[in-house]
Amino acid sequence: MGYSDFEFDVIVVGAGVMGSSTAYQLAKRGQKTLLLEQFDFLHHRGSSHGESRTIRATYPEDYYFGLVDESYRLWEQAQSEIGFKVYFKAQQFDMGPSDTKSLLSVIATCRKNAIRYQVLDHREVAERFSGRINIPEDWIGVSCELGGIIKPTKAVSMFQMLAFKNGACLKDNIKVVSINKDGDRGLKVAASNGEIFWGKKCVVTVGGWMRNLVKTVCGIELPIQPLETNVCYWRIKDGHEVEYTIGNDFPTFASYGHPYIYGTPSLEYPGLIKVAVHGGYQCNPDKRPWGPGLVPDSLKQWVEQRFKGKVDSSKPVITQLCVYSMTPDEDFVIDFLGGEFGKDVVIGGGFSGHGFKMSPAIGRILADLALIGKAKGVELKQFRIARFEENPRGNIKEYEDQVGLLKSTL
Ligand SMILES: Cc1cc2nc3c(=O)[nH]c(=O)nc-3n(C[C@H](O)[C@H](O)[C@H](O)COP(=O)(O)OP(=O)(O)OC[C@H]3O[C@@H](n4cnc5c(N)ncnc54)[C@H](O)[C@@H]3O)c2cc1C
Repeated sequence: MGYSDFEFDVIVVGAGVMGSSTAYQLAKRGQKTLLLEQFDFLHHRGSSHGESRTIRATYPEDYYFGLVDESYRLWEQAQSEIGFKVYFKAQQFDMGPSDTKSLLSVIATCRKNAIRYQVLDHREVAERFSGRINIPEDWIGVSCELGGIIKPTKAVSMFQMLAFKNGACLKDNIKVVSINKDGDRGLKVAASNGEIFWGKKCVVTVGGWMRNLVKTVCGIELPIQPLETNVCYWRIKDGHEVEYTIGNDFPTFASYGHPYIYGTPSLEYPGLIKVAVHGGYQCNPDKRPWGPGLVPDSLKQWVEQRFKGKVDSSKPVITQLCVYSMTPDEDFVIDFLGGEFGKDVVIGGGFSGHGFKMSPAIGRILADLALIGKAKGVELKQFRIARFEENPRGNIKEYEDQVGLLKSTL
């Protein structure tokens, strides 16, 4: 093959869901692929571990629909290749005050993309869900068939197994500390234990560590802020447990407004339902506060009022910590690093707490960018680094203000 054990077509740095999906895509296309992870595979210190992630097609921003739509197909395809399930079908239910701009945009994007949906008033919502969800009179609900749950740790493991099956080399406990151009040998990727690897191309998918690694590699400071966030599971009261299960047609859901609240039907822990706030507090991913995690009163009130006392709102019975990599506009960063690296280094980060569902399409896109220098069939302008260039510090500052706001609502 003409390669040494340390030379690869593409080196993928970071084995969360994005890196693992990318490695699978690359290996499947016959590329000699190396996937490097700083901790143990499937660790719990990043963004991709846990028991459930929502997949939904209802986005206020029109440009996510294509990524979600492609991902639904790619989830099915990967499942059929591996032979077990990571995606569980459910409907999606979005709700909020009837004048909420982003909720109205959800309706507009459904219409534009011919997604089947229904707008319901408070009486219709009570009827539709047999009293399991209740919204105030001045709210509306948007019901859509395209929801569902993905099992995150299992999905990451699936992509890693598929990458391996297709010939990729997977190494964990290898922390990448530098990436440099090295003449004809391509890119020299160095690890903290002294190991060196060479790749023609490199894809960097390091989640909450992106800002630090990119700064070390090329001096650019991307406004990607790690936040520690808290997933909460609440006990469904005796006699009502079955009503909130995925098998009983309970939907994945999102509640627009301040704070934005999301959740999934009862699936992973019998008798418990996941309801959490989108957001968190700033953290250093190498020096985490490790909780106990914030459970705002507004979340307790939401649980009490929306579920009409059928779920114990006094406190969550399980909380799990996780990291978001937030950009100021909550859009992803998918681009070439540029500068001296040109199109040789591709980065995928800033997934801002909503990327998991699209990881199959993102892996496909990152593989395209590394191999052919462009992504087929998608417009990436919303995800370019250049959008931060006008005033990068200003963006971080603005983001800090937003987090301040969020904290004050907690
Ligand atoms: C609580 C929570 C709920 C969420 N809910 C949803 C949801 O319902 N729907 C949805 O679509 N999305 C959701 N998300 C977002 C989604 O989980 C993330 O967008 C996604 O997991 C990001 O994956 P990643 O691969 O970019 O990051 P990560 O999973 O953090 O992976 C990055 C990896 O890179 C490794 N790494 C870092 N630096 C180095 C280095 N120098 N060398 C080698 N390896 C390195 C890290 O150890 C890590 O394993 C949620 C996120 C959280 C935290």
